[in-house]
Amino acid sequence: MSKTCLGILGGGQLGSFLAQAAKKLKIKTIVYCDDTDAPAKYFADDIIIGSYDETKKIDKFIKKIDLVTFEFENIPYDILSTINKKKRVLPSPYINQLIQNRFTEKNFINDLSLKTTNFELIKNFSDLRNNKNLLPGILKTCTLGYDGKGQYVISTIEDAEKLDISFNNEFILEKKIELKKEISVIVTRYGKNKFETYEPIENVHKDQILSVSQIPAKIDKLINDQSIFWSQKIAEKLDFIGTMCVEFFLDKDDKLLVNEIAPRVHNSGHLTLNSHNVSQFENHVRAVCGLQKVSTKKIYNAKMINLIG
Ligand code: ADP
Ligand code: MG
Repeated sequence: MSKTCLGILGGGQLGSFLAQAAKKLKIKTIVYCDDTDAPAKYFADDIIIGSYDETKKIDKFIKKIDLVTFEFENIPYDILSTINKKKRVLPSPYINQLIQNRFTEKNFINDLSLKTTNFELIKNFSDLRNNKNLLPGILKTCTLGYDGKGQYVISTIEDAEKLDISFNNEFILEKKIELKKEISVIVTRYGKNKFETYEPIENVHKDQILSVSQIPAKIDKLINDQSIFWSQKIAEKLDFIGTMCVEFFLDKDDKLLVNEIAPRVHNSGHLTLNSHNVSQFENHVRAVCGLQKVSTKKIYNAKMINLIG
């Protein structure tokens, strides 16, 4: 019997852990990425270096694999959907299309009757002036932002004038809230109402970049249960297959708000490598490759410190 071969788009840290998890499960991996120094080359069975829009190289990659997953969500939707016509991409590319844009992402969450911060679509300076009620706020590019990139904290309209923002792309203006805490829930969905869900992880960000993650999160049972329920509801509605993460804010009144959805394994879930019998990476590979769901249990409490560089 020939082994399943899983293609992974992206060869960074998350891709490396996915490849390691696959190896443990006797699944072959081929990574496709645009970085010759990608760390995943040490863990995958093979690696193809090319940019994501090089059709010939992508075709070569597709021929070698049985199905495809990805380690980051910003691969253009057109590329993912073209690949999906030849080999199945999981999670499904339409999810990326929805989540790649903060505006459609937040509307999707609100349509599920789940709460987010207040926000408005901003296309130009006069939109900003017309939404002063959201100040102090954070202006975020609708697409391609990460780790606080493409974000401006704006206290007053005069502040914004000084920033000289070019409105080449769309933004959302989000009300800045007083954060009590940030938590994330990592959930793997195997199919209809079939989940393995990790307990909420407490996260501390420094300069909008994840700095520390730990379990157990110091939250009460209500928030614990609510964040898990909301995450599963999102995963179910997306018909998600694989591991995803929902980032939450807890405001000063202990109100839970969804910040954003990451349709992939997540940095805050690195600690599951040691804390649980099955890591977020193994759960992801199991789910996308259609392997058995193993009951996921905590072995240790854990804390992760994010070193960058
Ligand atoms: P990214 O896509 O770069 O992760 P986020 O929207 O998650 O962007 O913002 C990064 C961090 O900035 C959050 O984890 C939080 O600490 C802070 N932040 C973002 N939006 C708000 C907000 N509306 N109010 C207060 N803090 C915020
Ligand atoms: Mg974030």
